[in-house]
Amino acid sequence: MKILFIILDGLGDRPIKELGDKTPLEAAKTPNFDFLASQGICGLIEPVYQGKFPTSKDAHLSLFGYDLKKWGMARGVFEVLGIGMELGKEDIALRGNFSTVDSNFKIVDRRAGRISDTKPLIKALQKITIEGVKFLLAPAVSHRLGIILRGRNLSDKISDGDFHKANIRAPKIRPLEKSPEARFTARVLNKFLLNSHQILKNHPLNKKRIKKGQLAANYILVREAGKLKKLQSFEKKWRMKACCIAGGVLYKGIAKVLGMDLIKVKGATGKANTDLEAKFKAAKNSLKRPAPYRNEVSGAGYDFCYLHIKATDNFSHDGDFLGKKKFIEKIDRNLPIFLDLKDVLITITGDHSTPCGVKEHTADPLPVLVFGLPSGARGKKRRSFFALPSGARGKKRRSFFALPSDSEGGRRKFTFFALEKDGVHPPQFSSKFGRVKKFSEKECQKGKIGKIKSTDFMRRILTCNF
Ligand SMILES: [Zn+2]
Repeated sequence: MKILFIILDGLGDRPIKELGDKTPLEAAKTPNFDFLASQGICGLIEPVYQGKFPTSKDAHLSLFGYDLKKWGMARGVFEVLGIGMELGKEDIALRGNFSTVDSNFKIVDRRAGRISDTKPLIKALQKITIEGVKFLLAPAVSHRLGIILRGRNLSDKISDGDFHKANIRAPKIRPLEKSPEARFTARVLNKFLLNSHQILKNHPLNKKRIKKGQLAANYILVREAGKLKKLQSFEKKWRMKACCIAGGVLYKGIAKVLGMDLIKVKGATGKANTDLEAKFKAAKNSLKRPAPYRNEVSGAGYDFCYLHIKATDNFSHDGDFLGKKKFIEKIDRNLPIFLDLKDVLITITGDHSTPCGVKEHTADPLPVLVFGLPSGARGKKRRSFFALPSGARGKKRRSFFALPSDSEGGRRKFTFFALEKDGVHPPQFSSKFGRVKKFSEKECQKGKIGKIKSTDFMRRILTCNF
């Protein structure tokens, strides 16, 4: 059995007055989501996170079953990898913004008027070396960029050069510990930021921008320095070969850190204009056998496809509940492509909630649905994968576990069985759990899965332990 793991970023929300006290998901017309919810099983996921609120990075890592205390890494690492930069073990990765400062380094605009093409600026800053440390830069979406410090004796224990605030003096980088490495790194980075300001200030592109009345991209605000840690790969952890389809940089970076293959899809932007149809088609193809992808390995297709859709979160941050509702409806219209997938378990949830009324991430639990058709299901009679075994009401529950059924290109494939006293039986299927009629925060409370922690989700799916 394979898994299609769909994440709608910032999916969870709170009731909105203008939507008749419904959440955008609840208010949206979603016949396909609702079909999957009613034929599969539903519940709520509590995001596990560190700090004040769940970040997308922490929320994803915990959904994939990683312990944040053990595997946590700064976001700079994920961003730099997501843009496609190669990161060495000793390198320091940072994310940054092109911004506008005045002659006293007071921040006028944190995004330099959301400048779109920064390639000429990046080119002018490439190959700067300070005290033996090389600075490598690459553009990300619009005003954003990735920066790598490459050299000896570097540390990621340095402060951010960006407090997410304008109208203050651009903060200097400080060492966060007394080590000579942290002090050295802070020093060379400060020098680089000054040098780059001199170059940017006089760059023809900025002179042109000023002439046109636009803001000059004359300073780089950096943050979230990190080093690459060796992390247990997704394949090793779950014994499934995984791929990722995403438009957003961070999500590609997460996949790369976990050793998932990235499938490039034309038109996947990580924004509302993303080509959902193309992404969904690619996701379906990735699981097919013989596979259009990976035919060089075994032709077996991937076991696990992580499909990320970002715009739900973008609408939430803008407080645009109508936009979010409409975008959810658009996703729903594209879902039928997955409905004939056999032997594929489909899971749909979010990484965290981003209520449109709050415009920020919150720790509210998220709706989740799990759906799958067994390979034998044909024609009209659709049966869902999940059901409690008949004798399992009340006290006596059978435990499900996964058996590697055969080897495929050196990998193991899982089949699910129930363990009983007299041996192993395949699980029974029924549609008894069709009580959830609508995929929504409220309805999913009633679901069979109940409320589970995000870090437990992968293990629960793989052992059919619901
Ligand atoms: Zn997110």
